Amino acid sequence: MLEKCIQAGLRMTNQRASIVKVLEQSIDHPDADILYRRAHEIDPTISLATIYRTLAIFEKAGLVQKVDVGDGKAHYEVSRQDHEHLVDIENGQIHEFESEEITHLLNEIADKMGFELISHKLEVFGKKHGNVSCRCISIKVY
Ligand SMILES: [Zn+2]
Repeated sequence: MLEKCIQAGLRMTNQRASIVKVLEQSIDHPDADILYRRAHEIDPTISLATIYRTLAIFEKAGLVQKVDVGDGKAHYEVSRQDHEHLVDIENGQIHEFESEEITHLLNEIADKMGFELISHKLEVFGKKHGNVSCRCISIKVY
């Protein structure tokens, strides 16, 4: 992501580099408060305002994406290939999955509407039934 920041013409301060590091290490879609706590641990000069400002800059440059899980907070993740989110409504955890079927269906829908599908991001909400363990991130659901 550091390289992408430089390619995007962003001035890389130590604070920004620390925030990039935290974002890259966060696979749990943290909100700004959590990112602040993690970044502040690495660099105590980072304030919550710095986090908000930097996230806005990164988002505008397409380097991070906001994730809306319906809890009223903006969560963030580093931009990467399209994937979907299944949100556990009981604990707010976000589970990632990919589905060729969904991609195919979305392509079809976009095509019928006269569009070419460029990207997609579904947020699906559910609660676990029983005591099943999660099969997210590494599992592709087809
Ligand atoms: Zn994600």
